[in-house]
Amino acid sequence: MTAVALLGLPTDRNSSYRRGPAAAPPAIRAALWNEGANPYTESGLNLRAAGVLHDAGDVALCEDGGDFDRIVDAVTAELEAGRRVLSLGGDHSVTYPVVVAYKRRYPHLSIVHVDAHPDLYPEFGGNRFSHASPFARILEDAGVDALVQIGIRTMTPPQRAVADRYGVRCFGPGELADARAALPPGPVYVTLDLDGLDPAFAPGVSHREPGGLSVRDVLAIVREIEGPVVGADVVELNPLEDPSGMTATVAAKFVKEFASRLHSA
Ligand code: MN
Ligand code: MN
Repeated sequence: MTAVALLGLPTDRNSSYRRGPAAAPPAIRAALWNEGANPYTESGLNLRAAGVLHDAGDVALCEDGGDFDRIVDAVTAELEAGRRVLSLGGDHSVTYPVVVAYKRRYPHLSIVHVDAHPDLYPEFGGNRFSHASPFARILEDAGVDALVQIGIRTMTPPQRAVADRYGVRCFGPGELADARAALPPGPVYVTLDLDGLDPAFAPGVSHREPGGLSVRDVLAIVREIEGPVVGADVVELNPLEDPSGMTATVAAKFVKEFASRLHSA
């Protein structure tokens, strides 16, 4: 059993449209530790038990170019302390530095990526670090053994070209059986952009794209990864678009179940 570090990454300077995800980590924690919320996962793990979930707090980010190394260093420190890292975005740009840190420890890392968007733009609006580009950077710079994208429903020609160049497997919300068959062997990093879910489940995101996955779809996929699952993130909650708090509650649900998966690996 491995302890899990909860690490907040409060940044949204690389968002292409609305800001807001920088405020997500405290909103997710509030939903997670709400007095009315149950701390037990579906597998029966008590997240409040000693040695299970270590809240490492939020990384002190400055919304400047130095944040990349601040994220790499914070993740590296947790890995060196023997913990697996569950990161709370922030927008999806955070996954690039997190994976850079992970690749140093796990040279044969594969990624399972749930999203409405492939996030494979060579650059977006002139920004190579855009939240629309992290997987283009990861494929170029870090390299992964496999990238499997699930829930994709906004593929564009420039992103298709990158997907084809690197052999990315992309599956739409109607292709879940094929996606499950394509799940890579471990070690696996899971990255969840909440807009991969249908907005009926998670309206509090910056880019709503109807026709997406259910909460249960995503939980089932993550459960089916043979493992080990060594790291994960939950990104793109936008509290400014989530007046009911429902999306924060959904994010907290994934934090619970991902923590259970990381703990048991
Ligand atoms: Mn997205
Ligand atoms: Mn994304």
